[in-house]
Formats: sequence, C-alpha cells, structure tokens
Amino acid sequence: MALLLILSLSLTFSLSSCKIVSSVSASQPVIVFTFDDQHASVYDVAFPIMQEFGYRGTNFVNSNALGQTGLFGWDELVEMELTYGWETGGHTLNHEALNQLDYEQAVYAIQQDFNNLIEHGLNPRSFALPKGQCPSQIYPFFAKSLHQHSWQQRFCHA
Ligand SMILES: [Zn+2]
Repeated sequence: MALLLILSLSLTFSLSSCKIVSSVSASQPVIVFTFDDQHASVYDVAFPIMQEFGYRGTNFVNSNALGQTGLFGWDELVEMELTYGWETGGHTLNHEALNQLDYEQAVYAIQQDFNNLIEHGLNPRSFALPKGQCPSQIYPFFAKSLHQHSWQQRFCHA
C-alpha cells in the first residue's frame, strides 16, 4: 500500500505539469495515470502494481524508440492496451522538440507516430507534447487532426 501511495504522490506531482485543453464531463472526480517515454520500469514495476489494484494507465510513447535499451517494446505496449485496457497516446516518433522543427517535420513526427501505433492495432486518442514544447504553428494541425482522427482534446506537456 505504501508503494501505491508513493506512486500516486509522484504521479500527482507529475500531473501538475499537465495542461488539459478541455475537460471530460464526469459525475465523479477522475484520476489519470500517465507514463511517458516507454521506460522499462513502467512495464516491469508500475504495470503489475496497477494491475494488482485494478488501475489502468496511459502510455505516451515514441514509436521509433520502443524496444531500445532500458525501454519496453511493441509486445509490451500492445499487451497493455489490447489485453489489459491501457490507453496508448502519441508522443512523436523520437521525442522531437517540436519548436526546433519546421511545420512539415513536426507534422510528420506526430502523424507518423500515430500511424505506427495504428499499424500495430492500437487506438491512440491522445497526445503528450515532448519536452512541453508546442509551437503555435502546430495548433492548426492539431485542430484539423482532432476532427479527422477523432482524437480527444487532451494534450499533456511532458
Ligand atoms: Zn516525454
């Protein structure tokens, strides 16, 4: 139980940096557990603990980095979503700093990341901004994509 409390507290502090663009209507408070950057410890440590207590989380992943040293891979990501109901969200291909890319590069890093997730049978519906950077020239792309891909209007700076 102490471990869960520590996990919850650390997630609370982490979540305080998130900026929700629009809220979800709910009759009760909602707590969201999100994990960025596909660290192996998410699958090895957090996932079993959350399973034990009946919680699901959201993985914001960089699809080109899955399976690299110290990171979990496609098999683990697919298992968490398709078998255990976790959500997978986009986080760009390689954790690109979007404000250092031109528009076409930024759109590619976001869109191809989503395409990779979809090609593996996943259903990405949210996106977390790598390094908390979102240049304003990307906003029209997000707005357009929200309609085309039914993304939920949730963007998290992480
Ligand atoms: Zn990140």
